[in-house]
Parts: sequence; structure tokens; C-alpha cells
Amino acid sequence: MTTIKNYINGDFQNPIKGNWIDNYNPSNGEIYGQLPDSTKEDVENAYIAAKSAFPSWSQTSLEERSRILIKISELLETNLQRFAEAESKDNGKPVSLAKAVDIPRAASNFRFFGNAITQFASESHESIGQQAVNYTLRQPIGVVGCISPWNLPLYLFTWKIAPALAAGNCVVAKPSEVTPLTAFLLGDICNEAGLPKGVLNIVHGLGESTGQAIVEHPDIKAISFTGGTTTGAHIARVAAPMFKKLSLELGGKNPNIIFADCDYEEMLSTTVRSSFANQGQICLCGSRIFIEASIYEKFKTDFIKKVKALKVGHPSESDTNIGALVSKSHLDKVKEYIQIAKDENGIVLCGGNEVKVKGYENGYYLEPTVIEVQSNDCRVNQEEIFGPVVTMMPFQNEDDVLKMANKVKYGLSATLWTNNLKRTMHLTNQLQAGIVWVNTWMLRDLRTPFGGVKASGVGREGGFEALRFFTEAKNVCIKY
Ligand code: NAD
Repeated sequence: MTTIKNYINGDFQNPIKGNWIDNYNPSNGEIYGQLPDSTKEDVENAYIAAKSAFPSWSQTSLEERSRILIKISELLETNLQRFAEAESKDNGKPVSLAKAVDIPRAASNFRFFGNAITQFASESHESIGQQAVNYTLRQPIGVVGCISPWNLPLYLFTWKIAPALAAGNCVVAKPSEVTPLTAFLLGDICNEAGLPKGVLNIVHGLGESTGQAIVEHPDIKAISFTGGTTTGAHIARVAAPMFKKLSLELGGKNPNIIFADCDYEEMLSTTVRSSFANQGQICLCGSRIFIEASIYEKFKTDFIKKVKALKVGHPSESDTNIGALVSKSHLDKVKEYIQIAKDENGIVLCGGNEVKVKGYENGYYLEPTVIEVQSNDCRVNQEEIFGPVVTMMPFQNEDDVLKMANKVKYGLSATLWTNNLKRTMHLTNQLQAGIVWVNTWMLRDLRTPFGGVKASGVGREGGFEALRFFTEAKNVCIKY
């Protein structure tokens, strides 16, 4: 049994009230450990540790902060296999995926912000017509809260923590209670890298208690949250009266728009990935596929053939394409949506059933599922499913597909497949999304702004945007 503990002031601690939560392995449905069911008392201890570490950390030179963050990055790389196996055990994703994407990206997050902070600059305005100069200080906020989801556990956890620390803040962080293991392992790495005690504190527990205590804490001045839209709205309601700085990265229901003039083979293989990578549990997955009518039947045949060839299997097997979904309750939710699709006269073109993987019959496996829908207004096109389920339908022309792409409450990302420049310029301008990929998907440059519009969130992460979020601007005006 693995016992996960809170990481407070550089030490590993049991929850004060002594309550624990079972931790499940999604690949076999078994309990493999426990994590703290932390209360507001644990959050308070984490806050006190962070507060006392802040004066020194915020005054630590940029070179030293940078050096420590880059050391954390290197240690994650050294421990790649161990972390990849832990992530897979906790989340159900293939070890190969965790090894190729999740853990390398967590390491990149620390390296990137370790370097970025040495290049971060602020503005100066020389007044014209008056003898005065203004310059902007960018000062760390103090103690900040970082709350992350289960789908890319260490990847998204560190995407918040790294810029917060780089900017000189101290952190109280909570990973998802569904996938706490790699965040727990990160504590040792931080100690080994020489991160001073109390600079980063990791408190484990449920959203409505531990997470809520972080958001409600009057002296935790900023909250960076990634998770569901409903949770984001709740956090905004709690934090707004205290005037906290908020960054909210929320749900998506992203269109994948395919025109007949695209590079067909590349589109086809990328569309399989953008539909089912990480069991479809990526906020950026293109879950609504719109195909130009002239290639609809061909696409349907070719896509289904490729999807049927995907292997659903145990995450540790190297030829597994689709591992287990993260939890039993999530599997049930996704299955419910497949039933809703059928009730709405959607046609299940492939998949739709649970898979019993030999030797792991209690794991949470589901076939990759493609549903042909009649209208963009149906629930499976309007609500986030967040599993290995995509819908497809044809469109007639540019205007037609633009309307459907935008007719949804979310606005996180969109993918466009075309070689027509005019159309690319028109659609990229008009699509309501924070990120538009043209002839690619999930190609990430960590310097670029990342985030959504509409119900997909408020604020941007990435690059200097993240460093701006984790600092307060103070203008200084000097008359001479
Ligand atoms: P969730 O909202 O249930 O939980 C996210 C985190 O918030 C968890 O750590 C949870 O414990 C915590 N939480 C829950 N209630 C809370 C409360 N009252 N106060 C404070 N914290 C609370 O989301 P999830 O199911 O873990 O993740 C899936 C969702 O995340 C999907 O909607 C997905 O689209 C979204 N997501 C968005 C992005 C993005 O960058 N926009 C990235 C990944 C996932």
C-alpha cells in the first residue's frame, strides 16, 4: 500500500484530523493506497509555512531561483521511468504516453520558467511634455494557491507551480484527489534540488474541503485553477468578494473542422490522436468533428478503420493505444453520454462498449467510440464528455461550419484542416477559441498564451502571461 502524505515546510506529514481517502488503480479497479483527507487546519499549516518562507524566497536572486527550478527539471528527467509508471498507475494512461508526454512536459515546465524568469522585463514610460519617468515593478504576490485536475496530473500541476515559484511566490498547491501520486513524489525532488522549506507546500484532499479551504483562505491572494467549468464558476463566486487574482482554465468542446483540400493522410492520423489521445481526456481534444460533405463518406470509412485498429489494453503494455479511464464514476458518466447519444438518434459507428481486459477485468476500459450525429444542437455536441467519444457530421460550406463551431458555450481550442489561405485567415479570425491549430494539433510552444474564452475560462497561462499573472504590477512615477 502506498501512503501519500502532505508536503508541508519540506516535511511529509499526516493529515491533522487523521482521515484518509482510498486511492484506486484504474487499470484493475483495486485500492492501492491512501491519501490525506486534509482539512482547513492542514491548509492553514501549509499557509503558515509558505508565509514564513516568502520574505527570503522573494528576495532570492533570479539566478538562484532559476538554478533550483532547472535542477528540479533535471531530477524529473533522471526519474522519468519511475514517474511515468506512477502517473500511469494513478491515472490509467499508457506508461508509454506518460513517458513521452506527461513527465517530459512537467520537466520542461520547470526548465522553461527557470529560464523565462531571467528574461522577464517590465515597462517604462517616459512622459512627453513633462519631466517624469514611469517604470513598472513586477513584484511577487505572496502566497498563492494552485489547484489542478486529474487528466494530465503532473503536467498541469507543474504548469502552475513553476511560474508561481519562478516569480518569487510561495505556494499552497492541491493536485486532484483522483491522481495525487506524482505530486507526492515531487516533494522529494524539490528537497533534493535544494528548494527551501515552505516555498512549495502540497496539501492533498477533496475539492469541496481541502480545495475550498485554499480558495476561502483570506491571505492566499491568487488562485490558479484548472478543472471543470462548474467548479470554476463556484471558485469565482467564493474568491470574488475577497478580490483575489484568478486564472481559470476550464472545460472545452472543441471543433475539428476538415475541408476537402487538406493533406488527407496527415489529417486522418492526427484526427485519430486529437480524438483519443489520453483516452480522450484532454481538454483540447477535438470532440466535435465536422467534415466537408464532398469527402464525408470517404473520411467516415477511413477514420472508422483506423479507430477500430486502436488497441485498448493494460497501460503497461507497450502496444496499448488506449488505457483505462481515470475512475469508475467517470467511466459511468461517459457511458451515460453514449446512451444519451442513442436516445437522441445518434448512430454509434464504432465502439460504445466497455472492454474487459484479460487479467484486469475490473479495470475501467472503454472502446474508442465514434457517433454520427444529425445536428450540432444535440447534447453530445453541446456538453463536455471528456472521454474516448467523438461525434461527426458533414457540413456544406464555410459559413455553415463556422456557425456550428461557435454554437457551443465553450471556447477553448479549435482545429482547422485546409490548404486554402483565404479561408484559413477568415476562419482563424472568426472562431471563438483561445487557441486555433491549423493543419496540426497539440503543437505547443510554451511561450504562447494558453487559455479559453466563454465558458472555457478567464485569463491566460504560458510564457510571460503566466509570470504577469503571478506578479503584481506597481507603477512608480518619478518627476525630475
Ligand atoms: P474538477 O473541477 O472536478 O476538479 C479540478 C480540481 O479542483 C481538483 O483538484 C478538485 O479537487 C478541485 N476542486 C473541486 N471542487 C473544488 C472547490 N469547491 N474548491 C476548490 N477546489 C475544488 O475537474 P476534474 O474532473 O478534475 O477535471 C476535468 C475537467 O478539467 C474537465 O472539464 C476539463 O476540460 C478540465 N480541464 C481544463 C483544462 C484547461 O487547460 N482548460 C486542462 C485540463 C482539464
